[in-house]
Amino acid sequence: MRLEPCPCCLGKPEVSDMRVAGIHMWQVHCTVCGLASELDDDRVFSIQRWNRRLERARMKTWVTFLAGVLPFLVVIAFLIGSYTGAFIFR
Ligand SMILES: [Zn+2]
Repeated sequence: MRLEPCPCCLGKPEVSDMRVAGIHMWQVHCTVCGLASELDDDRVFSIQRWNRRLERARMKTWVTFLAGVLPFLVVIAFLIGSYTGAFIFR
């Protein structure tokens, strides 16, 4: 199963396993910044959760970007509107 890069630094992730209280647990961690997913007894689920985290981080980047850009778009639309408006009524 493919591992997406780290959502923080886009570093290379690694799957590690350990025994916790006799249960085989899995964890995905970043080899660059050390960010780690929670421990889980399902290896595939651990990887899926890690991959989803990147999707969420990408989504957050987009939302932040759009929220930052939206006021400028409104201002530009207003300027274009008032410019073309002035042009029409001239
Ligand atoms: Zn990282």
